[in-house]
Amino acid sequence: LIGVEETIQWLKNYNDKLSEQKDYLSQLDRAIGDGDHGINMARGFQQVADSLDDDFDDVSTVLKKTATTVMSKVGGASGPLYGTAFLKMSMACKGKEVDAGVFAEMVEAALGGIKQRGKSEEGEKTMVDVWSPVLDMLREGEFDAERLKKTAEDAMQNTEDMTATKGRASYFKERSQGNLDPGAVSSYYLFAELADVIG
Ligand code: ADP
Ligand code: MG
Ligand code: MG
Repeated sequence: LIGVEETIQWLKNYNDKLSEQKDYLSQLDRAIGDGDHGINMARGFQQVADSLDDDFDDVSTVLKKTATTVMSKVGGASGPLYGTAFLKMSMACKGKEVDAGVFAEMVEAALGGIKQRGKSEEGEKTMVDVWSPVLDMLREGEFDAERLKKTAEDAMQNTEDMTATKGRASYFKERSQGNLDPGAVSSYYLFAELADVIG
C-alpha cells in the first residue's frame, strides 16, 4: 500500500499544500487563536520536505525523520502534537510493510499520542476530531482512498459548530462556534494528500 517513495511523495505534496494554504490556515487561526497556524506548519514542513532528499531504508525511518523535524521546526501547540503523531506512526510500522491494517495501527498510535500529549478528547474542536473519525473508518477494514478523503473532510467540516475546550481557541468559549478549527483543517489536508498519492 504505502512504500518509501509514496511516503516521501505524500509529505512533499503536503508541504506544497501547506505553503499554498498558509494564509488560509492562519486566517482560520486568527478567528479563534493567534493567527500563526499556517506559518507554523508551512515553515516546519518546508524543512521536512528538504530533509527527505535522502536515501531511506523504510517507511518507519522516513516518518521518524519527519517527526524530529516537525518537533523542532513547527512552532506552537501543533508542533509537538504533529511531531508526536509522526513519531507514533513511525514506531507502529517499524519492521513492517505498510498495508491497510498496519496503517490503521499507525493512525491509532498517532491519535493516542495526540490525545495524551494534548490531554484532549473527541468533541473539543481540535485536530483530534479529524484523526478520530479517520481511525474509525480505517478500522472497518478495506482501504479506500476516496473514502479516507471524504471522511477527513466531513470531520473537518464538523468542527465548525463545536465549542473549543482545548488550546487557545478555548479562550473564545462559545464564540469559537461558527469557525473551523485550523488544526482540523491541516489534518484534513494530511489525509487528503495521502489519498491522492495512493488513490
Ligand atoms: P498555537 O495555538 O500554539 O498558536 P497552532 O496555531 O499552530 O498553535 O495550532 C493550533 C491547533 O492545534 C488547533 O487548531 C488545534 O487543532 C490544535 N490543538 C491545540 N491544542 C490542542 C490540544 N490540547 N489537543 C489537541 N489539539 C490541539
Ligand atoms: Mg496559533
Ligand atoms: Mg502560536
